[in-house]
Amino acid sequence: MKSKLKRNDTNAKAAYERAIRVIPGGVNSPVRAFSSVDMTPIIVASGQGSRVLDVDGNSYIDYIGSWGPLILGHAHQEMVEAIWKAAIRGTSFGLSTEIETKMAELICEAVPSVEMVRMVNSGTEATMSALRLARGYTNRAKIIKFQGGYHGHADAMLIKSGSGVATLGLPDSPGVPKSVAENTITVPYNSLDSVRMVFEQLGEQIAAVIVEPVAGNMGVVPPLPGFLQGLRDITIQYGSLLIFDEVMTGFRVGYNGAQGLYGIKPDLTCLGKVIGGGLPVGAYGGSREIMEQIAPVGPIYQAGTLSGNPLAMAAGYAALSILGNDPTIYTELERKSARLAEGFLQNAKQTGVPLKVNRVGSMLCSYFMEHDVVDYETAQLSNMALFKKYYAAMIERGILTAPTPYEVMFVSNAHSDEDIETTIEAHYEALKQCGGR
Ligand code: PMP
Repeated sequence: MKSKLKRNDTNAKAAYERAIRVIPGGVNSPVRAFSSVDMTPIIVASGQGSRVLDVDGNSYIDYIGSWGPLILGHAHQEMVEAIWKAAIRGTSFGLSTEIETKMAELICEAVPSVEMVRMVNSGTEATMSALRLARGYTNRAKIIKFQGGYHGHADAMLIKSGSGVATLGLPDSPGVPKSVAENTITVPYNSLDSVRMVFEQLGEQIAAVIVEPVAGNMGVVPPLPGFLQGLRDITIQYGSLLIFDEVMTGFRVGYNGAQGLYGIKPDLTCLGKVIGGGLPVGAYGGSREIMEQIAPVGPIYQAGTLSGNPLAMAAGYAALSILGNDPTIYTELERKSARLAEGFLQNAKQTGVPLKVNRVGSMLCSYFMEHDVVDYETAQLSNMALFKKYYAAMIERGILTAPTPYEVMFVSNAHSDEDIETTIEAHYEALKQCGGR
């Protein structure tokens, strides 16, 4: 195991060695392996507020936040109580409970385009089900997604990119049949011209365009002005559905999601992460007309033994209630995140390290370069060697972010001003260690 860190990772190494014998790569989701930064994985013992503690007793200010869900921080007292109260009444029934309706009501009130919603267990399930619904509703097979957009690991979505303006899909992973991949057309993010070209050729066959309204899986790439409106106009023109994958942005960039922030109403919305309050939850929703195509009302099938699970609903309902009842949360998240971004840019200026910071609300990321990042191609120009050095230096200073420049840094309501300032100081030292002045 390559590890240049001074932090003690004795227990982590032992735990990891044990894990790799029985779990592929020792992890239940690939990015947890920390292989992109040549480190022993962080093995977490516990989390509280803005911090996580690993099995060697190292404490970190955490900006992974479970990859987005933990907008209120770790082990938030009200949420823990809600889960506990639900658990003692029974962990799962596979039958309806009232909390599912209360949860659906909150989502329908908050998300502008959603009149009805179906709960599932992950973001992957949400996008997979929304795609089936879009295909069933339009009776068309093809979908458009954007290069560098991640919509979970369902076959149809594991297609990224190729060169050229629009690439007819090639699977990213063995196991995705070519026959599935060829129905997924990928185009560059923020390029309305590419979308238009595809529609001009294949418009009558396209069931849906699926998009992260703020791309959050190639760092953070905000939509250029007019991009989302353009997608709305083109999809209406051709009778295709517009799907916003708000698994990351929903209740994150604002209580009304990215669709509230940018004022664009998609036909279908996928949710996950924040709506589960840290438990496994996803959801998809849209107009009554479209959603009533789903079984048992309509013919399009989708189901789940644990869907609407009472623990998950209790956690999600508690999270959304807290967020909905306290308007200062989003303004504070904005203020702290803006300060973090500003601090990073000041550090870059002072040290002379090339750095581009992209941010929408409490989602931010930094690329080690000076160009603007507007799509996957430009995102990939980030200097990975520099990132690795920087990453090791930050971990050593107790700052935990995702071990890749293509994942978001999530600020939570539990991050204090002191946490933010400590992070900015660590960042300065880390940049100096990366060869800055
Ligand atoms: N869509 C987006 C935009 C995501 O960021 C993710 C996960 N990072 C997913 C879908 C998949 O969600 P899950 O990991 O819960 O399946």
